[in-house]
Amino acid sequence: MKRWTRCLALALLCATALTAEIRTLTILHVNDLHSRLLPLENKHGGFAYLAAMVRRERANCTDCIFLNGGDVAQGSPVSTIFHGLPVFEIANLLGLDAGTLGNHDFDYGWMQARKFLDTAKYPIVSSNIVGADGGLLDPKPFVILKVNGLRVAVIGAMTESLKTLTIPAAMGEWHTISLVETARKYARELKDKSDLIVLLGHITGGEEQELLSKVPEIPVIVSGHIHSGMEKPLTLDGRVVVRVKSYAEELGRLDLKVDTGKKAPASWEWKHMVVDSTQLAPAEDVAAQVKHWEDEVTKQVDTPLAVSKRAIDKRETKLVIERAMREQTGSDFAFMNQGGVRDAIPQGQLLERHIWNIMPFDNRLVTGTFKGRDLPAVVLGDRKVDPDKEYTLVVSDFTAGNQQANENLRTSGLQFPNDVGLMRDVLLDWFRKKKVIE
Ligand SMILES: [Zn+2]
Repeated sequence: MKRWTRCLALALLCATALTAEIRTLTILHVNDLHSRLLPLENKHGGFAYLAAMVRRERANCTDCIFLNGGDVAQGSPVSTIFHGLPVFEIANLLGLDAGTLGNHDFDYGWMQARKFLDTAKYPIVSSNIVGADGGLLDPKPFVILKVNGLRVAVIGAMTESLKTLTIPAAMGEWHTISLVETARKYARELKDKSDLIVLLGHITGGEEQELLSKVPEIPVIVSGHIHSGMEKPLTLDGRVVVRVKSYAEELGRLDLKVDTGKKAPASWEWKHMVVDSTQLAPAEDVAAQVKHWEDEVTKQVDTPLAVSKRAIDKRETKLVIERAMREQTGSDFAFMNQGGVRDAIPQGQLLERHIWNIMPFDNRLVTGTFKGRDLPAVVLGDRKVDPDKEYTLVVSDFTAGNQQANENLRTSGLQFPNDVGLMRDVLLDWFRKKKVIE
C-alpha cells in the first residue's frame, strides 16, 4: 500500500522500476575479417565456414544479434585488385545486424569507404569521424536494434589513431574526434531510447580500457582492431569488453542477461569459438560467391613463385622483407613496420598469393640518403655507422608519411625523394630470383 502511494507520487520512476525485468540477449561478433575469404594456412577461417558457424549459432536463437568490429577490407588479392567492394558484397551474406568501419576500410580512400556504407545491406555505424565542418562521414552514428523485446543501441566508434594508420590523401578532410566525449554524448542521447547500450569499436587496447573506466554509461563494448583475440573479457564493475581473433579465425558469443531497469547486464558469459574449416560444412551460397571472386584473381596470383624450406613467423618475415628491400634497391638500410606485415611465410611451395597476403597494400617503396647521425635508432639496430658518412635507407611510403609514429621511425623531417616502385612487385621480384628461401 505504502509502495503504491509512493509510486503515485513518483509515477514515472515507479513505472520503470515495476516493469523492470531480466531479458536475454546474445551477441555474436567478429572483427578484422580483412577480406580473408578462404581459410588460412592453419585451416581456420574462410567466409563460407564463418557463415556456417553463425547460422548454426543462430538456429533457434530468438535473441541473437551479430556484430562486426571493422576492417572488412584489405588483406587478400580480391580486396586489393577490386578495392574491397566484392568483400562487402559477400559480407552481406553473413547475416550481420550491424558493423563499424575500421582504419583499413579507408585504404582505398574515403570515397570508397562511402561506397562500402552504401554496399552493405546491414547498418555500418561510426560516430566520431567528421569533416572540416564537423559533419559525420557516416550518416549513421548508431542504430537501435530490436531483439527479444529489447532495444539495443549500437554506437560505432573509430580509434583516435586513425590519422597515423592512414595516409592523408586517403582521408581528405575526414578525421576523428574524441572517442570518450563522443561515446558519452551518444550514451546520454540514447539512455531513454534503449534498454542496453553497446559500443562497437575499432579501437586500441588503451582505448578499450579508457572507455571501460571513463564511460560507465556504456556497459558492453564489442571491439576490434587488435588482431589477437582475448582469452577472457576485459571487465570493470560488471561492464565488459570482448574481441576475437582476426581473419575470421574465431566467432565470439556473448550471452547476456539484461536488467532492463538498470539497462546493464545482470550477468554474462562469453566464449570464443574457432572457425575450423575441417569441422564445418561451408555455407553454399557464400562458398559460391567466394569461388566467383577467387576465380577472378587466381590466374594472377596462384602462380608458383619460390619454395620456402621452413615456416617463417611474422617477426622474421619482417626481416626477410627488409632484406629483399635492401637487395632489390641496393640500399644500405631498410625498415619495414611490423604492423604492415599481414601474414607469415609458410613452409613449402610459395605462390604469388602468399606475397599478396603478406603485403596486400598498394604501398610504394621510397628511398632517401642520410648522414649516419640522422639515421633513426630503430633502423640502425646494433649496426655502427660513421656519423658523417652518407647512407641510403629504403622504406614504404606509408612509413615515410607516418615516420613519427612509434610503429615507424620515431623521428620526423626525413625526406625520401626517390620512388622505386610498388612494394609488392619489388618483393615478388626478389622471391622469384631467390627461388629457395632458406
Ligand atoms: Zn584496424
